[in-house]
Amino acid sequence: MQDEEFNKLIVGYSPELREAIRNTKQKGIEHGFLICKKKGKYRVKSKCSGDACSLESLEYCKGKDEKTIASFHTHPRGMLLPTPEDIAHSYGQGEKYFCIGNTKTVRCWKIADYNPVFENMIEMTLRGDTSHAGSLVVDDIIRKRGEIVKQTIQFEP
Ligand SMILES: [Zn+2]
Repeated sequence: MQDEEFNKLIVGYSPELREAIRNTKQKGIEHGFLICKKKGKYRVKSKCSGDACSLESLEYCKGKDEKTIASFHTHPRGMLLPTPEDIAHSYGQGEKYFCIGNTKTVRCWKIADYNPVFENMIEMTLRGDTSHAGSLVVDDIIRKRGEIVKQTIQFEP
């Protein structure tokens, strides 16, 4: 999938994005969902809130012939930057894209193809060294190197 194609796809989910953002504002906790693809068709799966968004209980996109295209989740405190855990989680689910929303804006990111900087960041995160991993992420974003993540679109759904 090309970035342009993804950008169009995610903007098309504006009603779902608005719903998650509205719920985040009301309840002050994270909301999210996955976008899965099966036999050429996309669908939203695993809508979640709070701690449930962070793991186990989700269905994911694990049906037959189904794959994960992207995920969305909100940051109730407003940061639009991904945390190392966000990136490691998306990478682990085989997502190429993920988006983060605050109480107004959605910003999407593409995960880099294999490279040593990326692997280093993932290893640090898995070891629990999220502060160093976070520095690598911020540095990558500021310098627009795209070795970890690259912004694809930002919009108000
Ligand atoms: Zn996050």
